[in-house]
Amino acid sequence: CGIVGYIGHREAYPIIMKGLQRLEYRGYDSAGIALYDGNQINMSKTKGKVEDLKNKSEKNIAVNGSLGMGHTRWATHGVPNDVNSHPHYSNSGNLVIIHNGIIENYEAIKTELSKRGYVFESDTDTEVLVNLIEEVKKKEKVKLGKAVQIALNQVVGAYAIAVFDKEKPDEIVVAKLGSPLAIGIGDREFFIASDASPFIEYTNNAVYLEDEEMAIIRPGKEIKLRKIKDDAVA
Ligand code: GLU
Repeated sequence: CGIVGYIGHREAYPIIMKGLQRLEYRGYDSAGIALYDGNQINMSKTKGKVEDLKNKSEKNIAVNGSLGMGHTRWATHGVPNDVNSHPHYSNSGNLVIIHNGIIENYEAIKTELSKRGYVFESDTDTEVLVNLIEEVKKKEKVKLGKAVQIALNQVVGAYAIAVFDKEKPDEIVVAKLGSPLAIGIGDREFFIASDASPFIEYTNNAVYLEDEEMAIIRPGKEIKLRKIKDDAVA
């Protein structure tokens, strides 16, 4: 399984597709992509190969935009099918997540969120996490980075995640525990991926997140690296 993301000034789609192809060696059963075109999110997901995703995406969605992320899935919770493929939306439709790993206590969190009115369209642990982030963000009235941090402190498991918010499309928040996550630093642009292969021709400046580390990345700004267990996150 693998993740790829881009935020900057180039078209994200070809970078992400090529990146997913380079991560194919990691193994997967399905794949998906979400692109923010400056106005809305366009998402495409499918069981099968990255080549199938490419065909489906180019047929069904507008593949433009300079913010996006893609995923290859190795199913742990929920069968491999289109709906369970990543990315996953939160209930508001504003947050989008990709995740490699497992959220072990997702069932307890899902029960809590269901009581508060959240509905789930997939069987994945990942869709629970993105809605937990949404609930924290709403309830605590905090920014996305802080919401991700608080949510991850309630989670048991392993993850490399990337999240963005349609309402604030100038940043991607990433975090790691157990699964790998590399950030490629370009000129007013950032790449994220499971390893450096998706962005090797764009930059040789890379940061590898440590376990229990997260980052808030905004083009044109320094990366904000934080420990997930620390208190202060901007
Ligand atoms: N646990 C998640 C799922 O089953 C992510 C699996 C992965 O690492 O691809 O959807």
